[in-house]
Amino acid sequence: MENYRTYLTEEELPTHYYNLRADMEKKPAPLLNPGTMQPMTAEELEGVFCSELVKQELDNDTRFFEIPEEIRDYYKTFRPSPLVRAYNLEKVLGTPAKIYFKFEGNNTSGSHKLNSAAAQAYYAKKQGLKGVTTETGAGQWGTALSMACAYFGLDCKVFMVKTSYEQKPFRREVMRTYGAEVTASPSDTTEVGKKILAEFPGTGGSLGCAISEAVEAAVTREGYRYVLGSVLNQVLLHQSVIGLEAHKALEKLGVTPDIIIGCTGGGSNLGGLIAPFMGEKLRGEKDYRIIGAEPASCPSFTRGKYLYDFCDTGKVCPLAKMYTLGNGFMPSPIHAGGLRFHGMSTILSELYDQGLMEAVAYEQTEVFEAAEVFARAEGILPAPESSHAIKATIDEALKCKESGEEKVILFGLSGTGYFDLLAYQQFNDGTMTDYIPTDEDLAKGLAFVPPQPEE
Ligand SMILES: *Cc1c(COP(=O)(O)O)cnc(C)c1O
Repeated sequence: MENYRTYLTEEELPTHYYNLRADMEKKPAPLLNPGTMQPMTAEELEGVFCSELVKQELDNDTRFFEIPEEIRDYYKTFRPSPLVRAYNLEKVLGTPAKIYFKFEGNNTSGSHKLNSAAAQAYYAKKQGLKGVTTETGAGQWGTALSMACAYFGLDCKVFMVKTSYEQKPFRREVMRTYGAEVTASPSDTTEVGKKILAEFPGTGGSLGCAISEAVEAAVTREGYRYVLGSVLNQVLLHQSVIGLEAHKALEKLGVTPDIIIGCTGGGSNLGGLIAPFMGEKLRGEKDYRIIGAEPASCPSFTRGKYLYDFCDTGKVCPLAKMYTLGNGFMPSPIHAGGLRFHGMSTILSELYDQGLMEAVAYEQTEVFEAAEVFARAEGILPAPESSHAIKATIDEALKCKESGEEKVILFGLSGTGYFDLLAYQQFNDGTMTDYIPTDEDLAKGLAFVPPQPEE
């Protein structure tokens, strides 16, 4: 019998990030300057982002980027992450499918986000910056960035979506412990925050609002840049370490997955997990079914439109072509805070549009039912976000049970749910509700999408 957990040795850890775009024949659409509708230049982006990260963002051709030794050293404090064979879940489900998961929750931030935070903090420090600003939804990204900033010696200002700030005070304290300054968003500390508060009084905020505030806070301060924890090409690039490790570990086991599953908020954990596998698929070497699992309350892939849209509510960011619900979409306050973003990575959007991956949407109660089954079987308390991937995995494993097919399923367990106990409490009390936006709600969000560039 195979080991329950497969770890790589330090020598086997990836030395390079893999840039999936290099293998895409049709590249993801470029970011556009909303003023000129022309592709954003490096110079324009460098006002907001670190120079090295701008280079990575715009590079569609370089297949591998060396991971600097300083970042690799830091990775060793929490990587490799284990590849786990979910024997107990298989048994509970009675499925002939083989289920593996790559567990990214084994660090204090509790999620995969530290992989990119480490890189972004390192490049900011190397550029001689004083600090960085960012937004955080559920708090995982803010926590990850606080940790990375503490390690590399940078100031860190976090705008935290107000509902999370109120629901997850413990997250806030973790960030403060690592030295970050945490502000509830929308706030009156920025012009865009004041404007949003005037327009939507009493709003619980959204990732889109918090992004606008964090960008403003960066560009109005000397020596600061803005960093983003998902959606961007550079973030998917950094997260490729998840997929590279998983690919190597499976190779050591002599196993090839048939289906690869991950939850999708902005697309970074799935984009990272699938990177080397999708590369093989694009080069025609192998074929995999790839599935993104999203909340029915914020269904960017399954009900969004493939359009140029702002990444933020305040419309201060460039336009990205992506599956979007519209920058005016205000998702209901579901517990999977990390999946409440109106848009999606341009890379995954393009792959989805080309039919190279699929997407499914689930309501939160059924997601928590899946989380409970998983927790009881495998012992790990999953994040509500990750539980969307668990739900999709269980569905596929049960299909295998029906058909008798022994498929191999690999899914991304992006994080743990220790800070989501209010959500678990509601689930356990039976007071959790599901909310699916109506077509009218979606039309309202899409009404904010700007005029499209001419083809
Ligand atoms: C942020 C987060 C997500 C969603 O973000 P992606 O960029 O889509 O990966 C998923 N799971 C966890 C645990 C997160 O913290």
